[in-house]
Amino acid sequence: MVSMETLVIKTENKFRSLVTKQQYKQGEVICGIPREKVVDKPNRFTVQIDRTEHTDVGKLAALNHSCDPNVILDTAKMQMVARRDIEKGEELSFFYPSTEWEMDAPFICLCGSANCIHVVAGARFLPLSTLEHHFLNKHIREEMIDLLNATKKNLPTK
Ligand SMILES: [Zn+2]
Repeated sequence: MVSMETLVIKTENKFRSLVTKQQYKQGEVICGIPREKVVDKPNRFTVQIDRTEHTDVGKLAALNHSCDPNVILDTAKMQMVARRDIEKGEELSFFYPSTEWEMDAPFICLCGSANCIHVVAGARFLPLSTLEHHFLNKHIREEMIDLLNATKKNLPTK
């Protein structure tokens, strides 16, 4: 597992963020995702790693959401990967709905990016046209397929 020594938690007005002390190239593995304590319900500090499991991720709990993120959390490989080149001193962020189907504590995003989703509540609440622009983990794609199949069954029959 790649170490996390290069990552620093910054706190400003009680607002936490995760900052890198070194630069990364696009596609580079930054660190492993710690599986510190697996629980069956999400909370503000967990990352969803498959359809039924959420884990405490230690330092990575300080990762903020962005609609134009610079890292990906790959829950199949349990790795955090650079989505693009990242500068030394940059804050790291990922797209929460790429791991979270239904979040415990939804919030309004103020990231300011052109494709901002505004309400961050989990992939379940986003249209496919938005999700298709993002890296999505397998458990999110599976949930989407199930939801689509269930929706079809509920269509009125003529
Ligand atoms: Zn946003």
